[in-house]
Amino acid sequence: MTTTRLPELSPETVASAARRVMARCDELARVTADDGAITRVHLSPEHARVNRLAAEWMREAGMTPRQDAAGNQLGLLPADDPDAPVLMLGSHLDTVIDAGRFDGILGVLMAIEVVRLLRRVDDEGRSRSPFPFGLEVAAFSDEEGTRFGKALLGSSAMAGTWDDAWWDLADADGTTLREAYREFGLDPGRIGEAARRPEQLVGYLEAHIEQGPELDRRGEALAVVSSIASARRFQLLVEGEARHAGGTPYDMRRDALLGASEAALAVERICRGEHHIIGTVGQLEAFPGAVNVVPGEARFSLDLRGEFDADRDRVWRAISLELDDIMGRRGLRWRAREVHSAPAVFCAPLLQDVVREGIRHSVGAAAEPATLFSPAGHDGMALGAVAPVGMLFLRNPDGISHHPDESVSAPDVALGIRALAEAVAHVGAEPR
Ligand SMILES: [Zn+2]
Repeated sequence: MTTTRLPELSPETVASAARRVMARCDELARVTADDGAITRVHLSPEHARVNRLAAEWMREAGMTPRQDAAGNQLGLLPADDPDAPVLMLGSHLDTVIDAGRFDGILGVLMAIEVVRLLRRVDDEGRSRSPFPFGLEVAAFSDEEGTRFGKALLGSSAMAGTWDDAWWDLADADGTTLREAYREFGLDPGRIGEAARRPEQLVGYLEAHIEQGPELDRRGEALAVVSSIASARRFQLLVEGEARHAGGTPYDMRRDALLGASEAALAVERICRGEHHIIGTVGQLEAFPGAVNVVPGEARFSLDLRGEFDADRDRVWRAISLELDDIMGRRGLRWRAREVHSAPAVFCAPLLQDVVREGIRHSVGAAAEPATLFSPAGHDGMALGAVAPVGMLFLRNPDGISHHPDESVSAPDVALGIRALAEAVAHVGAEPR
């Protein structure tokens, strides 16, 4: 790989950038709809407040801030050529209910610091990108899908993959996405203006906590991400016969809940025998749901993720055969409705290389940096439609995420900032 154009970053400069990131994670954690917990959903007053804070920090780091037509907060550090494409850096500022303070937020704040470290001030005192492309920080407005049940709304708008059917999605209070856009001060008719074209983007780089224990177990701070999981979600229905709990002997029962329970155990057994396939039954309900009635119907969900689409689909076929067997033995009928399907998104080889190179520089280890696949979804899944995607994972102690105990250490954030800055500089050194 060619040499970088990165200015020498002193350990103290990077450490103070990491301290600023940690302090701002705390500051954003205070912008919440729930007292004593962190909850910040799409198009809420809290969303508006964090966008204003991010805009202020972007301006202070030399960028020109603006909010796009999808409520994404952006900050641009232009190249000398105003028509040059941009390398996008970022993550999301929305959260799940009762969230931690780092998922998404960390990636936005690290990106702001990386721009601050890399910017060049020209003769007229204007901040400019030192590369032949601009740098743009994106704070996505919706990644989690907490409010409307549909994830990646902000990055899908940017990727130009918006589906007009989404406008009618409603939140728990019955407010539609269309109404929420208007209440937030956005015009649904202008959503197309958020979209970027492939020639406008050099790539998309995101830093994120791992949301799993792999780096913690290995004793390493940073990893290159190879791909973002492919996922399918199903709602399954099992039909049996509701009968008296006292009077019905076992040989006459067609208990739908027991069929569904056996199915959940089969999902665990089959997926445990696979490499990088994870199946989860997160919802299970019995009907009619009375204490003295054998359940005549059961409904459950299945979330199936894998590194490769083909493996995931093969495992779904194996689960289906097993369900045929279980339900057949128990005199039950079953069917599945697919409610979500997303292909795996592979990180671009070039961006994997620059992240790997960045980690080597930062951690200084002779050993090869870890390469992990991400079983969790990220904004890069949407942006993969218009740009090469790269990701950097930071160690997440105990792997706990989507929970108030989610954590990351300041020294790891400092290593991550240096690695991300080095990675960007390596993109800048690539022949274009
Ligand atoms: Zn996230």
